Amino acid sequence: MVQFTHLRLTGFKSFVDATDLPIETGLTGVVGPNGCGKSNLVEALRWVMGETSARQMRGGEMDDVIFGGTRDRPARNIAEVTITLDNTDGSAAAWRQFPDLEISRRIERGSGSLYRLNGKEVRARDVQLLFADSASGARSTAMVSQGRVGALIAAKPAQRRALLEEAAGIAGLHGRRHEAEGR
Ligand code: ATP
Ligand code: MG
Repeated sequence: MVQFTHLRLTGFKSFVDATDLPIETGLTGVVGPNGCGKSNLVEALRWVMGETSARQMRGGEMDDVIFGGTRDRPARNIAEVTITLDNTDGSAAAWRQFPDLEISRRIERGSGSLYRLNGKEVRARDVQLLFADSASGARSTAMVSQGRVGALIAAKPAQRRALLEEAAGIAGLHGRRHEAEGR
């Protein structure tokens, strides 16, 4: 599994100012009072990994991830999240030639998202497959959000199978098969 080393955010939800968080190996805890942005951080991770559902971001549309302004600060028009990964073990197999990977996603109001990998523009699909292959997909079991445990219990067998396949690291293969079949 790829190791996250840094998370950088600008204009993403409540993180209006540029924020750079180093992520050490082992367990990382995020603590703080209600509403301080803990869940927003987890959503930033999910988002940069290629999440396509605004609902998963607790929003009505994807532009809602952009800082929407407060009483004293105007709204922004751009949000950007960058994650850096240690890929020395080659877990992100398609990008094995890079020991360090920097993936960023940027959204501009009304213009959609743009992804970059080590500075070069890539498709959303490339980023999604990278994480699906390394068994840490945007909706994999590696990310369990509030209420998810209950949803897992109530899930239909096919939905539960999709989660197990993602955990087993074969979700990327299914994605490619569907793409090859034109689905
Ligand atoms: P809890 O402990 O209650 O779970 P939390 O630390 O997880 O809280 P979050 O849900 O991450 O808190 O943050 C919620 C805050 O983020 C709210 O104050 C909300 O107004 C703010 N927020 C969410 N989206 C945006 C946005 N687009 N622009 C500005 N602020 C936002
Ligand atoms: Mg929360």
